[in-house]
This record gives sequence, C-alpha cells and structure tokens, in this order.
Amino acid sequence: MPITDPEKFKIVYQRALYKKICRKCGAINPPTATKCRRCKSKNLRFKKVGKIGKG
Ligand SMILES: [Zn+2]
Repeated sequence: MPITDPEKFKIVYQRALYKKICRKCGAINPPTATKCRRCKSKNLRFKKVGKIGKG
C-alpha cells in the first residue's frame, strides 16, 4: 500500500530508515549511537534507503 500522506511518509521514513545497523550482529541501534548496544561494536552503518512510498 503506497504512502501518499507526506506527514505519514516522513514518520515512516524516519522510523524505518533513520537507524543504525550493527555490521557485526545486525542489532538495530538509535541513529545517535556510536556503539552497538548489543555487542559494543563500533561497526555501525545507516540503513539504506529503500522503496518506501513508491507504490
Ligand atoms: Zn552489534
């Protein structure tokens, strides 16, 4: 189901994509995190922008 409401899209976008993923264990961390909350690794990456909102 496509997201047409810009406000909703913004919220979904931030919730879904504005997170850091640990490369080591795959745990989801807050965007402000510098270390993984599960394994304490500093090997974090931002989640890639997907196809949310494009139908
Ligand atoms: Zn980790």
